Amino acid sequence: MHAHRPDHRAGPAPDGPLTDRQDTFEVVRELSSPVWVFDIDHNRVICANAAACTMWQAEDEAELCARDMSLGMSTTVARRLRQYQDDFLRQPGITFREMWTLYPHGKPVSSNVAFRGFRLPDNRMAMLCEILSGTGDTPDNLRSTEALLHTDVMIAHFDLRGTALYMNPAARNVIGCAAENLGSLFTDKADYHAMMFDLDGRGEHRMVAQVALSPDPMWFDLSAKLCSDAVTGEPAVLVTAIDVTELKTARDTARYLADRDQLTGCYNRFYMQRHFDALQADGQTGHVMLYFDVDRFKHVNDTFGHEAGDAVLKTLAKRALSAVRDGDIVGRLGGDEFVVLLTCPAEDKMALQRAEQVFEKLAGPLVRGSASIPVHVSMGCARFAPGKDDFEAVMRQADIALYHSKREGRNRLTFFDTDMGRAALAKIRLESEIEQALQNEEFVLHFQPRVDVKSGAVVSVEGLVRWNHPERGLVPPDEFIPVCEETGLIETLGQHVLEIGFRQARAWHDAGRSIDMSLNISPRQFSDKQLMQTLSRFAATRDFPSHRIELEITENILIGDVGAIASKLKAISEMGYRIAIDDFGTGYSNLAYISQFPLSGLKIDQSFIRQLPETGPIVSLILALGQQVGATVVAEGVETREQFDWLSYHNCDQIQGFYFSRPVSLENLDDHWLADRPTPRTGSPP
Ligand code: C2E
Ligand code: MG
Ligand code: MG
Repeated sequence: MHAHRPDHRAGPAPDGPLTDRQDTFEVVRELSSPVWVFDIDHNRVICANAAACTMWQAEDEAELCARDMSLGMSTTVARRLRQYQDDFLRQPGITFREMWTLYPHGKPVSSNVAFRGFRLPDNRMAMLCEILSGTGDTPDNLRSTEALLHTDVMIAHFDLRGTALYMNPAARNVIGCAAENLGSLFTDKADYHAMMFDLDGRGEHRMVAQVALSPDPMWFDLSAKLCSDAVTGEPAVLVTAIDVTELKTARDTARYLADRDQLTGCYNRFYMQRHFDALQADGQTGHVMLYFDVDRFKHVNDTFGHEAGDAVLKTLAKRALSAVRDGDIVGRLGGDEFVVLLTCPAEDKMALQRAEQVFEKLAGPLVRGSASIPVHVSMGCARFAPGKDDFEAVMRQADIALYHSKREGRNRLTFFDTDMGRAALAKIRLESEIEQALQNEEFVLHFQPRVDVKSGAVVSVEGLVRWNHPERGLVPPDEFIPVCEETGLIETLGQHVLEIGFRQARAWHDAGRSIDMSLNISPRQFSDKQLMQTLSRFAATRDFPSHRIELEITENILIGDVGAIASKLKAISEMGYRIAIDDFGTGYSNLAYISQFPLSGLKIDQSFIRQLPETGPIVSLILALGQQVGATVVAEGVETREQFDWLSYHNCDQIQGFYFSRPVSLENLDDHWLADRPTPRTGSPP
């Protein structure tokens, strides 16, 4: 316990008065004021004179020595006695003179007592106690009374029913008559009951509790100890309290801020992680993580402004909070990403139901002024079991499921399953391989000639990217373009392709060759700011043949804000580039708008050519449309003589396809197609 306790353990309690140190004890017995020796280790009197016996209301010394003095002794007094024992060991000869209330047979007797250390024959430290004559007005008592009156610490005595027996000035000042009853001091009665319960069991209790003293919240650091009333000897409660409102408010604010996302008031990632770990540590039931983000959030920001974007996030936070139950928590990870942790039974059906309930509450337009902002979310869900998974792993699963929701067309919820995990892993691997390949410049362009149907001359080539993989050889674009689109790598790859293509176009132009080149622009690349910068940077260089370059975009690029798209296309064509629509006929572009875009070419999708002549009416329609808007029509994927003849007969402008040539490397292109050679002749009508 204390470092200064005697180094040997206390032996068994002696049965009667000690007689070994007869001389000392004899002296004690001769004194006229009450004197006794108290064995602190055993809570026994081991020697007492007649006056002490009278004071303690004992028949004789033997009866007093047989008493177990620990009965009814409060923990505070017991602790105080042990403190004396240590003090005596540390400072031999020290004497304490204090006002004490003793309880002979439970009746309080207040006396001025002197305490000194007393070595027992077995060398343990006991206590020699002597009742001093006169009043209690010793210097120590006078000072301690002063201290009690002037301290800022609130000190009060209550009986066990909670009625105030005494309050020092600080307590009276703050608590006043508000706490005539101890229980009424507490805002939350459960705090009071917890305190009384603990006092009953351990004799003391400490807590920071909210007290009902003002309309504003007020907090006390309270310490309560069971003791006896010095007047009646009845059990009582000594309460000391310090007002910690300011400290607590400051700490609570700091904690609130540290745990929260400032915009929405939701929890932040750090808190979510901590909460997750806590669930894992003591959770009994299963849980579900919901991970969601706003569909086309960028579009909301671009169209309605960033304030509207913030309003959408705040609204979503509110909706999510209103959809969850006690114990569930909502967090925002940043951007438009939210995570909800639901506690719910392990069965699939229940988990799905709870997730759907939350999901359904999230969507719905947000009305701001005259604008109605459509709000939809995509959600991924992953279950986790107590003690098994870590936060990052579950997040990854929920993220993969979210990604599936997006891929399936957004505005939906998907639960993670392990097959998704495998596919996602393969994708992640491919993604990092592609990144590496970009650094190693493993991407090359092959070129497929485009032939003018009337003259049979190669008028243009389409640059098509290939991955020159060190082990797998030439990898076709279908195997990596979609991943690049999803991950954003297309921005780097697309940039790379443009630079290779433009350099080649420039080389042909400088060599005096009149050949056009078309290059593919993916949807994501089209909305990337860097595209415009690259296009204008090249167009601004001296003698750059931008009129020889055609950019192929897909129809879905044309869906959306028609005005914005039209002005972007206009800016591109003003730089001299031409624009063609690739795979025409497969998308859902609104034909009514086609004429508003500066288009120089339409490339009929291969699927229509493959099915000629059944698809003849559609192909004819596209040919007519091309003529109407003044665009060159190119048939793609022409493989057979029959297809070629049909197209030639129906006045298609140009063809591209295996019938004429597969995409070839630059060397093969030079050798076979750009040298002077005979060209295929137009056939007879089909
Ligand atoms: P696309 O732009 O429509 O390119 C035409 C595709 O059809 C090429 O496939 C070409 O090899 C193939 N093709 C040409 N003639 C025939 C034919 O007669 N029969 C058949 N069955 N196929 C024919 P490739 O090179 O595999 O490219 C596939 C797609 O990948 C391209 O379709 C384009 O969408 C994309 N792509 C290729 N290079 C790039 C690029 O540099 N950037 C972007 N964003 N996409 C690219
Ligand atoms: Mg193309
Ligand atoms: Mg195409």
